[in-house]
Amino acid sequence: MENLIKKIKEYNPEVDTALIRKAYRFAQDAHFGHKRKSGEPYFIHLLATAMILSEWKMDTASIVAGFLHDSVEDGAAKREDLLKEFGETVTGLVDGVTKVGEIHLRNSTNEEFVENLRKMFLAMARDLRVVTIKLADRLHNMRTLEFQPPQKQKEVARETLEVYAPLAERLGMGEVKGELEDLSFPYLFPEDYKWLKSYSAPAYKEAEDHVRDAKRKLLTNLAGENIQATIHGRSKHIYSLYRKLLRPEINKDISQIHDLVALRILVKSVEDCYMALGVIHKTYKPVPALGISDYIAVPKPNGYRSIHTKVFGPGGRIIEIQIRTTEMHDEAENGVAAHWYYSHVKNQSLSSADRDKKAFAPEDKLNWVKQIANWQKEVADNREFLQTLKIDALSHRIFVFTPKGDVKDLPAGATPIDFAYAVHTDLGKHLGGAKVNGKIVPLDHKLKSGNVCEIILTKEPRKPNADWLEFVVTNLAKREINRRERKSA
Ligand code: MN
Repeated sequence: MENLIKKIKEYNPEVDTALIRKAYRFAQDAHFGHKRKSGEPYFIHLLATAMILSEWKMDTASIVAGFLHDSVEDGAAKREDLLKEFGETVTGLVDGVTKVGEIHLRNSTNEEFVENLRKMFLAMARDLRVVTIKLADRLHNMRTLEFQPPQKQKEVARETLEVYAPLAERLGMGEVKGELEDLSFPYLFPEDYKWLKSYSAPAYKEAEDHVRDAKRKLLTNLAGENIQATIHGRSKHIYSLYRKLLRPEINKDISQIHDLVALRILVKSVEDCYMALGVIHKTYKPVPALGISDYIAVPKPNGYRSIHTKVFGPGGRIIEIQIRTTEMHDEAENGVAAHWYYSHVKNQSLSSADRDKKAFAPEDKLNWVKQIANWQKEVADNREFLQTLKIDALSHRIFVFTPKGDVKDLPAGATPIDFAYAVHTDLGKHLGGAKVNGKIVPLDHKLKSGNVCEIILTKEPRKPNADWLEFVVTNLAKREINRRERKSA
């Protein structure tokens, strides 16, 4: 407990320690005599959840709710007591976490599943802290999944892989997403997991050796240019490696993977990021075809910022290097959570409650959360809602650029028509043709991440072609095409 308080004070000196201690005692009482499958007191789970939330630098209300999240549902507490002792905000968070927890993929009908997902997205759109607490809860349950019976292990792992890991990714919590996937992997694909563990071990070892040499040399050269930097190696998550190896062009050949162990360079300022990039390219030649991705100039839609470059490292072996500031690093690891922390620091003039409200209101950076909440209001049919979710929120995304460098976040398989409607409905109405990277492409062309897409406009508005419905993938494009079809019919 003292450890926890100390940890929170490091990033939030004004934390209400009395309230945290009160939550600790309340949880102990509510779960008195209550044991987990492992035989440990249930309370351990609540302490662990609060600890994880403090690692993500979350606010006081979230950590308090972390302690209390099972006290009504699984413990002996009453909701009224919670409300009386901890107030509306905390009780609202606990309610939200309970609702989100009602999702069960296997033991529910499709309709129930959809209804629960609806609730989840509604709760999330209202307050992002709910999902963060739920993710901390799930992370600890996954870390201790070995104590559950085999059937339950598979169900929980599958739900984690299908719902919670993509959620973490969408919230910019890259590290959490990676850990959730890695924890699910052995339960869902035990044979493949065993195979990959032994197949990849020597390759990881070799990559670590190469990266260690590169690290030493880069530290020296960066110091020579007076750039203060810390460098560490980051091993690729094993499930992410697994997915990559299954791609047809890779065909399970691990020598095709260049970021098995990547180097991560942390510096003090954005300026230093670019200075460091110069030093790296002077030390090791960049790989022409693989190139540099500058997510500082153009961040990913989930807010991710960093510069990535691939270079010919020691012995001519290709290594990936990622350059970022400490703030960018925190955000990339912890997403929304770090976002709260930095927004809190920057808005010192506001009252503490206003700061939290501002930090957790879904804003443009997390626009998709708002979109989902809106869609679910519009879409009456449950099946269509599920389709919307699967296609637009939980499937793989691509990032396509406008000629001005704005980025659009689209589902994989999106066409220039989807892109046009995503940029502006007017573009859809005047859609004459499209160019990708300067070359004219057919309208059913499948866009790829990193493409620059330009829409060629007609002078007069043009009626959409019903055939487009055959290949567009976003709900926005489908809806607009349908609407204008109906109008003109
Ligand atoms: Mn729990």
